[in-house]
Amino acid sequence: MAKKYRVKCPKCGNVQNILESGPCAKCGETLSIDQPGMIGLYRMGNMMGAATGFGIYLNEQPYGAIGNRESLYMPLPYGEYKMHIVCGMNRKCNDPVIKITPDDPFVCLKVHMNVGFIQNKFVIERADPSTMPET
Ligand SMILES: [Zn+2]
Repeated sequence: MAKKYRVKCPKCGNVQNILESGPCAKCGETLSIDQPGMIGLYRMGNMMGAATGFGIYLNEQPYGAIGNRESLYMPLPYGEYKMHIVCGMNRKCNDPVIKITPDDPFVCLKVHMNVGFIQNKFVIERADPSTMPET
């Protein structure tokens, strides 16, 4: 199956999924998946909050949500991106800073929730691209 790309419109800020470069669903601006870097994110399946999306933040900017056992690819320019995941009252996360560089342009991550006694915590870990499921 084709990769699902998650992009943020540079003109109107609308966050949307696209399968290829094309117009923004909101304002018509051309959205390009041809960026030098990319972050892949896979949400590992679990029972906790399986029906709800996990909210994704990149550098404090909302980047949509990810469903249970869903994988998304975010084409991005080189740079540093702090990733934060939230779900309802669960706002604890290990907040990794992802560096996308010419030597390391494609970073794959998996996120899962560690169920805690007091509070659940999201753990985002780097994964090998070959282990990323297609959804
Ligand atoms: Zn737009």
